[in-house]
Amino acid sequence: MEVKVVQNILKVNEKLADENRKLFAAKDVFVIDVMASPGAGKTSTILATVDSLKDDVNIAVIEGDIASKVDAEKIQEHGVEAVQINTGGACHLDGNMIQNALQVLDLDAIDLLIVENVGNLVCPAEFDLGQSMKLVISSVPEGDDKPLKYPVIFTQADALILNKVDMLEATDFSETAFEEGVRRLNPRAPIFKISATKGDGVEAWTEWLRERVDAASK
Ligand code: MG
Ligand code: ZN
Repeated sequence: MEVKVVQNILKVNEKLADENRKLFAAKDVFVIDVMASPGAGKTSTILATVDSLKDDVNIAVIEGDIASKVDAEKIQEHGVEAVQINTGGACHLDGNMIQNALQVLDLDAIDLLIVENVGNLVCPAEFDLGQSMKLVISSVPEGDDKPLKYPVIFTQADALILNKVDMLEATDFSETAFEEGVRRLNPRAPIFKISATKGDGVEAWTEWLRERVDAASK
């Protein structure tokens, strides 16, 4: 009984996500679903990405949080449009929430839409939003065993960011163990090692991203 309810919810979501995907394709918008644990640095990675690309790429951000609008306000301070979604307790975004947020965004004026999902490495993996790619952020203080503990989301990632590499020396984090854990699940996705707040490695990530955004608008 419970399994059936969940299947129906996912089926409805799949339909809405497909509608989003068609709309994004028609409007040439490249969409990233950013997924990570709370505190991995989703918002600071988005800010670093915005600062690196905003002169050349029209960017908007959808911020998903259980409550508050602090993250959307931080993004707006960097000069790009940001819409806050409060899920009211739900621990993930879904296709319907994205459709609601799109009502206040002018997709004709956007090349890159960055969606910050709710901080959670479990169910955001289950809910398609209609995105062009999934970005998973892991951070050094969380430890190198995240791929082992949350295999589904690491399997789905189209790109990975290892954030807070400036803290490597202060921890027993093993880059080798992390990379091996990722590669067992996901042989292809590039892994970018960055410090979003200090700027290390950000350019390699944003150059890779920019190529994808450019390709989507052709
Ligand atoms: Mg955030
Ligand atoms: Zn959830």
